Amino acid sequence: MTLTSEMIKTKAKELGIDLVGIGSIDRYENAPTLMNPQTYFPEAKSVIVLAMRIPRGTYRGIEEGTHFHNYSFYAYNRLNTIFRPRLTYELACFIEDHGWEAVPHYPAVPERAPAEAPVAKDKVPHDVVCSVRLLGVGAGVGEIGHSKVFLTEKFGPRVRLGSIFTDAELEPDPIVEPGTICTSCGRCVRDCPGDAIPPVRDEDKKITVEIGGQKISWGDVHMGRCTLTHHGLNSRVSPFLKKDFPNLEFDVSATDITEEEAYRFTHPVALGNWANPFYEENNGSTIQYYKYILQHCGYFGLCGAKGCIRACMDSLEKAGKIQNTFINPFYRKPPWEIKVEREGKKIGVINPFREEGLDRLHPGIRAGEQKESKF
Ligand code: SF4
Ligand code: SF4
Repeated sequence: MTLTSEMIKTKAKELGIDLVGIGSIDRYENAPTLMNPQTYFPEAKSVIVLAMRIPRGTYRGIEEGTHFHNYSFYAYNRLNTIFRPRLTYELACFIEDHGWEAVPHYPAVPERAPAEAPVAKDKVPHDVVCSVRLLGVGAGVGEIGHSKVFLTEKFGPRVRLGSIFTDAELEPDPIVEPGTICTSCGRCVRDCPGDAIPPVRDEDKKITVEIGGQKISWGDVHMGRCTLTHHGLNSRVSPFLKKDFPNLEFDVSATDITEEEAYRFTHPVALGNWANPFYEENNGSTIQYYKYILQHCGYFGLCGAKGCIRACMDSLEKAGKIQNTFINPFYRKPPWEIKVEREGKKIGVINPFREEGLDRLHPGIRAGEQKESKF
């Protein structure tokens, strides 16, 4: 049955998908085996990449420091796991209604894919997970900015991507010339609270790959620092860490932790319990808000992509590089940041949580106890 790129794009528009691009499979021939659409679906002829916008207003609460759920809910987890996959599914069904197989690709990240044993001797280890950003480049949807965030001409960095592989041979879109959108302004570098993005001019910290005959480069982002920050262990942008660990002077920019270690560290801390009978406010959670936001919104996203999306978006809006324009600028006052410093004096043997709890519950009972640490 006839199926054209134009038919797919018209259907995508009807479904409410913001952007669609199509790449021919040969553009991905240099992709590593475990990230190659053809390892996944050997007969694939085309890769369809769709983008859904992140509404600019989902950053407002985190920008004001007054509301943190919205970014995680509407702009991250639910956009990536519900709103966009639902439309990806609908588009895949439309393709299959025309007699062509359509593989909607599970939105995982390649660096987190498990190294499982092959199911047979002639197979590669599963799961094959393609980089949706590289698929997006090959499908002409946009480019990878210096920050490694995917940029589009319509929405700048405010998009989440999905992909479908099909055996239908479709008219491909031209690849966006590298440097069309990213201005190499360095705002993402300066505003990232984890100091995770390398300087724009540091050629040693650039990743370069080839897609469809184009050389594509971006900064080698320190994913350990990014993950620590994004998952809430950076006091500079987490009032919740500051509240439950007021004495922690942990400088994320000085760490060289790997992404894997950062995951192992942040999730157990967020989901853990510590029975402290004197600190009633946090219901036994290690960090009360983290368990709450994970359970209610499905993810943290606690830095609100301060550098790689918010600052980049502002820079590109000012440079006239984003077609989706607004009446008012995003930043209406200087952004907030929390100082990474110890609260109060050196602690030593003193346990302020116990003291506060006892003073509240049993005033006077600590009479005669050591008052100050000699630390
Ligand atoms: S802020 Fe955006 S436009 Fe500027 S260098 Fe970073 S990715 Fe490129
Ligand atoms: S998600 Fe946050 S920590 Fe990671 S690069 Fe973006 S601004 Fe930096």
